[in-house]
Amino acid sequence: MADVTKFLTGIRTFQQQHFGENPELATTLAEGQKPQALLIGCCDSRVDPALVTDSSQGDLFILRNIANLVPPYLKNDDYHGVSSSIEYAVCHLEVSDIIVFGHSNCGGIGALMDSAQGEPAGEFIGNWVSIAASARDKVLREMPNESAEKQARACEKESILVSLRNLMTFPWVKERVSKGQLSLHGWYYNMGTGQLRYYNQLTREFEVLVKHYSPDSQEEQQKTS
Ligand SMILES: [Zn+2]
Repeated sequence: MADVTKFLTGIRTFQQQHFGENPELATTLAEGQKPQALLIGCCDSRVDPALVTDSSQGDLFILRNIANLVPPYLKNDDYHGVSSSIEYAVCHLEVSDIIVFGHSNCGGIGALMDSAQGEPAGEFIGNWVSIAASARDKVLREMPNESAEKQARACEKESILVSLRNLMTFPWVKERVSKGQLSLHGWYYNMGTGQLRYYNQLTREFEVLVKHYSPDSQEEQQKTS
């Protein structure tokens, strides 16, 4: 068995910070949660949403799955882990925002792109990522001569739009969005640079929301703050 000591050490460090240095917050959190947003992210170990957004305990209700996908609304007896998480966040926690948090170099989207060539991946993965098959088909149709890498980056963004559209098939999501009680956001994080883009519904483009990291921009920020 691999050594898990580093995780246990991490828990002790966290205990010290969470309970030792801020006991009031620990007590408040134990009483209940009121996160502002539901964030739907990928399972990828390199894009932990709480770390990347520098969020604290209780800030985000996080749902993670392969390729940060949302299936369409479908009521049957299957085990709907994603849909039940969305239901809880929207109908019970009454979050005001849902963020679909896609990222570059996504293995799930890579599997989706590869599935165009042959057999779907794995026992479950291929069928799961096929939720975004329309995104893959659009990319292959519109940029057939681009490199596989460029196609994958485009598909990562397109699949965010599929998830945003699928979110609107949930009647209680659609109702709250139409009443202005709930906002949907499509974000795309570049793990190589730290840059964050968002989908602008007016221009229909992913535009820069937070510039990529550079030491100069940090100095600039410190000067203005
Ligand atoms: Zn991913």
